[in-house]
Amino acid sequence: MNSDNKEVRVRFAPSPTGFLHVGGFRSALYNYLFAKQHKGTFILRIEDTDQNRLVEGATEGLINVFTNMGVHYDEGPMIEEGKLVAKGDFGPYIQSERLDLYKNHANELLSSGKAYRCFCTPERLEMVRAQMQRDKQPPKYDKHCLSLSTDEIEKRVAAGEKSVVRLNVDSERGEIAFTDHVRGEVKIHAREVDDQVLMKSDGFPTYHLASVVDDHLMKISHVIRADEWLVSTPKHILLYEAFGWEIPEFAHLPLLVNMERKKLSKRQGDVAVEDFLKAGYLPEALTNFVALLGWNPGEGETQEKFSLEELVDRFDLSRVQKGSAVFDVVKLDWLNNLYIRALDNKELVERVRKGFLSEHIESLSLMGVKDLSDEQYEKMAELAKERMKKLSEFFELSKFFWKAGEYEAADLVWKHSDAEKTLENMRAVEAILEGLDMSAFESVEALEKAVMPLADERGRGDVLWPVRYALSGQKASPSPFEIMWVLGKEESLLRLDLAISALSV
Ligand code: GLU
Repeated sequence: MNSDNKEVRVRFAPSPTGFLHVGGFRSALYNYLFAKQHKGTFILRIEDTDQNRLVEGATEGLINVFTNMGVHYDEGPMIEEGKLVAKGDFGPYIQSERLDLYKNHANELLSSGKAYRCFCTPERLEMVRAQMQRDKQPPKYDKHCLSLSTDEIEKRVAAGEKSVVRLNVDSERGEIAFTDHVRGEVKIHAREVDDQVLMKSDGFPTYHLASVVDDHLMKISHVIRADEWLVSTPKHILLYEAFGWEIPEFAHLPLLVNMERKKLSKRQGDVAVEDFLKAGYLPEALTNFVALLGWNPGEGETQEKFSLEELVDRFDLSRVQKGSAVFDVVKLDWLNNLYIRALDNKELVERVRKGFLSEHIESLSLMGVKDLSDEQYEKMAELAKERMKKLSEFFELSKFFWKAGEYEAADLVWKHSDAEKTLENMRAVEAILEGLDMSAFESVEALEKAVMPLADERGRGDVLWPVRYALSGQKASPSPFEIMWVLGKEESLLRLDLAISALSV
């Protein structure tokens, strides 16, 4: 229930285009949060009446994104045992399965005179539009077919002539006004509203008719959707009036723009939720980030990390901003790193293994390189997590653990040192390590304690650089002690040995 004791029922109504735009996900998330905080119902409805835009498998894809993101809807199409089923008492939730409903409702408006059939050809419509433009009028249909007699209409329909159904807008209706939860008071004169097409000539409804009929039949209390639909809302209000239905409340969410303040679009790179997940963003981090695109918890509030439960608690539709929200990838990376660091190592390894590792492991295995143990993975996670912005970076940050990078023996020598000294130091470290118990390799501190006195005596760079470089083959890496902690005694000694032989020749 919301403040006026109305049962809250909200919906996210995407067209199945083959991917879920982050802006669409933001609409879904705000609907979800609003529903949860009002103990209401969140519905997924698939708007697939545009036959030119159908994409095979897109509905299943959308459902999977919601599952992966952990944002669950109460009613809508769901997948059960590999099949699409409708869950809820207001189905079907896929518009192409509701075509009769739209047709019947369009007929109802035709009978009551609130809508009329229009036979105008595209050429005539273009002519009318051009004329209006010349007259500096807003381009609108000129109601040419409104005056057709019932007889004539019947004859032309019987003869198979193509027609559409248009809403008969009464321009004397005056101002259409509504209060938007985000935009505040919105007003437009009925004079400026076109006689919207409700049914197309192919027998399919337009978005406007289908969405109003469904929102009514599904008892939607609040329509929370993207800003781009604000201009359609007056038409929808007229439709509700034509049917004599109660009008829901509206909230139009601000546009998402990139750092250059341009609308986020597929052309400028990743915008699909699926792409962000594939790139290694955690669903919970992405959800947190998207929640902050247009909403913030209030002035003076510095908290930016919110779990889904906290968002349900804190989100406030009336705090959603009007102005565009900037999609800042640097902030997304920062948040994702916070979430990665908060995972325990085992969990982090599990997430990395799901989609970010197998290819690498396969190519290593083709090269004869053995995989590492679970324990080693967890230690690697501990070392990598501070620097990991995305799950996909784990391998790059850790790859030398499977196999040391290739290096020039000469590079083992620290700055102004020489090969002889370097060899001496590596041998000395080797001797220390050989004398250590296996258990010393279970603790970074124990290894440090064993080797640091020598490093302090002979120079840290002179001792630690060649050891670290021998172990990793990388110019930048964790400390030699951390690497030994992961590799264990045997492998550490092996790599040191190889470096010593390489430099000895
Ligand atoms: N099918 C529309 C879309 O893809 C839904 C708009 C609405 O929520 O009314 O955005």
